[in-house]
Amino acid sequence: MTLRWMNCFTCNARWPKSMKTGLLCILIETNAGLVLVNTGLGTQDYANPTWFTHFFRVITSMPFDSREAAVNRLRNLGYEPKDIRHIILTHMHFDHCGGLPDFPQGKIYVHRREFEVFVKGTRRFMEMAYIKRNNTRITDWSLYESIGEKWYGFDAILLHDFDPQIWLIPLFGHSYGHCGVAIQTPTGWHFHCGDAGVDIENNIAPDWLIATALGPHWPRLRAFAQSHPEVKLTASHMYPGFFAAKDGK
Ligand SMILES: [Zn+2]
Repeated sequence: MTLRWMNCFTCNARWPKSMKTGLLCILIETNAGLVLVNTGLGTQDYANPTWFTHFFRVITSMPFDSREAAVNRLRNLGYEPKDIRHIILTHMHFDHCGGLPDFPQGKIYVHRREFEVFVKGTRRFMEMAYIKRNNTRITDWSLYESIGEKWYGFDAILLHDFDPQIWLIPLFGHSYGHCGVAIQTPTGWHFHCGDAGVDIENNIAPDWLIATALGPHWPRLRAFAQSHPEVKLTASHMYPGFFAAKDGK
């Protein structure tokens, strides 16, 4: 089983300037083919940015380099878009699923609640980050909701297609149907908490800011990671050093 970590969208804060992040996308080799967790921005976002992407470029500092698009990262690893058979989304904000149009043949896995809000829209400020064109050209959606399963005590949804095991872990708050993704590894688990948490080793944001932007789960996730060394906890926006050590390996 191979698991690769890629930075598919560098996005740094203007203040404090020391708050720098890349967006973690995870490539997993499974019995059912290659699985990609989140896509980062896609080639369309670079070629034809929406007003929200322009707005985001003003309030953050980003290289805005299309070489970071998952499809280009994967080509560098020797893969073609058609090799990606499955895409699991933590949620549908533009920086997590903008690359969907680059993988029109992929089957998409997302929580039903997230998909429905994405399609219907809401008045919540954070949902401005939904960019509707990201669901065009793709017809193969698998929508999930809880049926009472648990993973380490978290509400969890087993995605039955895969060996090794992959679970969606509902962590609502940052968006309506936001989920983490737990991936079984040879040594334990990789628990990707998406935008429900931060880079545990390099975080400089105070708890109140995390709770405001990312929802209520971080204290539980942090305590869980500290008490379970066999579980590797990552967030979507990781410090660049994380990728410098792992990207493309
Ligand atoms: Zn988000």
